[in-house]
Amino acid sequence: MTGNTARVQAVQNITNRRPMPAKAPESLNSLWASDVFTLSKMKESLPKEVFKSLKKTIEASAELDVSVADVVALAMKDWALSKGALYYAHVFYPLTNATAEKHDSFISVQSDGSVISEFSGKVLVQGEPDGSSFPNGGIRSTFEARGYTAWDVTSPAYIMPTDNGATLCIPTVFVSWTGEALDKKTPLLRANAAMNKAAQRVLSFLGHADIAPVNSSCGAEQEYFLVDANFVNSRPDLLLSGRTLFGASAAKGQQFDDHYFGAIPERIQVYMQDVEEQLYRLGIPAKTRHNEVAPGQFEIAPFFESANVATDHQQLLMTVLKNTAKKHGLVCLLHEKPFKGINGSGKHVNWSVGNATQGNLLDPGSTPHSNSQFLLFCGAVIRGVHKYGPLLRAAIATASNDHRLGANEAPPAIMSVYLGSQLDNVFEQISNGKITGSLNAGVMDLGINTLPVFNKDSGDRNRTSPFAFTGNRFEFRAVGSGQSVAGPLVTMNTMLADSLNWIADTLESNKAKGDDLDTAVLNTLKELIDQHGAVVFGGNGYSAEWHKMAVEERGLANLKTSADALPVLKEAYIEELFDKLGVLSPVELASRFEIYSEQYILAIEVEAKLVVSMAKTGIYPAAVKYLSDLSSTITGLKNTGVELGNESLALITAQLTSMMKTVGTLSAALAKHDFATPEEHMQFCAKTIRPLMDEVREYADALEGEIADELWPYPTYQEMLFIK
Ligand code: ADP
Ligand code: MG
Repeated sequence: MTGNTARVQAVQNITNRRPMPAKAPESLNSLWASDVFTLSKMKESLPKEVFKSLKKTIEASAELDVSVADVVALAMKDWALSKGALYYAHVFYPLTNATAEKHDSFISVQSDGSVISEFSGKVLVQGEPDGSSFPNGGIRSTFEARGYTAWDVTSPAYIMPTDNGATLCIPTVFVSWTGEALDKKTPLLRANAAMNKAAQRVLSFLGHADIAPVNSSCGAEQEYFLVDANFVNSRPDLLLSGRTLFGASAAKGQQFDDHYFGAIPERIQVYMQDVEEQLYRLGIPAKTRHNEVAPGQFEIAPFFESANVATDHQQLLMTVLKNTAKKHGLVCLLHEKPFKGINGSGKHVNWSVGNATQGNLLDPGSTPHSNSQFLLFCGAVIRGVHKYGPLLRAAIATASNDHRLGANEAPPAIMSVYLGSQLDNVFEQISNGKITGSLNAGVMDLGINTLPVFNKDSGDRNRTSPFAFTGNRFEFRAVGSGQSVAGPLVTMNTMLADSLNWIADTLESNKAKGDDLDTAVLNTLKELIDQHGAVVFGGNGYSAEWHKMAVEERGLANLKTSADALPVLKEAYIEELFDKLGVLSPVELASRFEIYSEQYILAIEVEAKLVVSMAKTGIYPAAVKYLSDLSSTITGLKNTGVELGNESLALITAQLTSMMKTVGTLSAALAKHDFATPEEHMQFCAKTIRPLMDEVREYADALEGEIADELWPYPTYQEMLFIK
């Protein structure tokens, strides 16, 4: 239902809404991971030897012993049955930002017609979803369409309950029968392995004998909007594209900052608590919640976990946010820019690397020597962002995220690194060849002994940087709210692996030239910062001066749209990077370019079609009706001697005519299909389709300000953002 009656009814429904029935909260202990087949549950239910072997696979990435799979499958099935699950699903992460599942029953019919439940190691380890309709970017032709899923032992299985049942969910990788990765998890596991290998080289050069596997960690802060479902259901744009394609700004926006960190409205808090309860059951450590900057915008941040598990949990979290909203009569919008003129939503990806023996490798230590290790890892990140900044930009390139980047609310599309003043200064000293140590220690020669002890800097001082050091981790802030964090994590781990390998090579060759360990480290750092220091920037990332300086003086790329950024995936140095480190083969990489560019084009075309149809079938009729009402009123009044004037009539007519003319141009542009390459098609979307959509919107939003409110067909910004 659309039209003004829908609007009025929506407001009524919300006003008369009955609160959720009260429910006593459960204790954290009884909730925590109750729906997860955790290590401790495995320990209880598995024979000692099997548990030991599995634990080794999980913690040290040792190869999975197939003979243990049958035993684990049995224990997993018994546990799942005890939780009421009749089905199991291999869960995988195709190259959309979605999560996919193939459900199968435990049921096995016996010759006498009775049934038993069955779950073997074979089906735990490998599944065969047909999957021929998932995007594969040319890797599979349909006659050989089978892809298969394979159990990811390192991410725990869990139960997804619904009102009348439950499913055992098993995280898996999804690959083609020829072994090519068709998903987001496979490259993440590979990138992590490459990073581990390179980190081991650097750590052993530094003299560590006992080095546990190095893993990456991720804590993602998720922003989202909540809008009453009554409104969303009468807005085709929100329903189908997740953002408003029309809508004049409300008189009040976010300028008062009265929502940011304000008291959470009760209806929302009830929703959040419902979400958190489910997350706790799933073993997802939700940690903080608050109101965000824009009205109707909120944030949830779980505590960090290993990157692979955090990525699966992030997908689950998005699912729980969306599904739970429905139960509360709300819609959770994960789109990066649902509303024009107020802040969009991002997903800050906090990332670090570390292991059980050396700890967090991006945490400055309390001695100069632990700090030289820290500086090497930190330097590796700097080099990575400098060398592969365009790739980082490509990793967050979606049609929706383009609305946010560089819009004075989110980091610019230029990738730079913020270090904070103390660290900035140390790298500067290294570059100058002199380290002064602490402020009053006087100038000394370059030497590790003089490295300062770092202040613990909470680091959150520069919100305008896309890539900021925040005390013991980096925070990639340009990631979009609706995205999987896998792509950014693959990119960060891969660029880090490359840099750590360069560092290990350089350390080794410096040593071969006769440097002692300390000198080798410092000379390596000096070479690194001299080559890559241009990417370090502590100033205002939103400013026009930076945009100019970054490009003209520092040679950094400013890839404004996804149409500019995605072709980076085709560049030779990127292909070489992924191939050399075994993260993505050239074929796998090429397929990702195909898929992501197609998604970009599709997203914009769907929106453009919506613009055309909403303008024609919603806004045009409303405006015409108003014009007709207004002109008969003017004529009627004239007969009684009252002159109303025709200005409003003329203004609306002019805007309406212009709007329809632009709609015509947009329709014609949408009909164009003869593009030589995806690049050309993407540029057409960015440079022709999008501006035309904006132009239609400008006229429509102006009309919204002129036409009688009772005729306006779509819920307004004021209604959607302020009525809860
Ligand atoms: P902010 O000040 O940006 O709101 P928080 O202190 O709330 O930051 O932390 C943001 C996220 O960073 C949380 O998910 C937190 O668990 C995560 N985080 C903290 N330390 C690390 C780390 N070493 N690696 C990855 N993520 C981390
Ligand atoms: Mg943050």
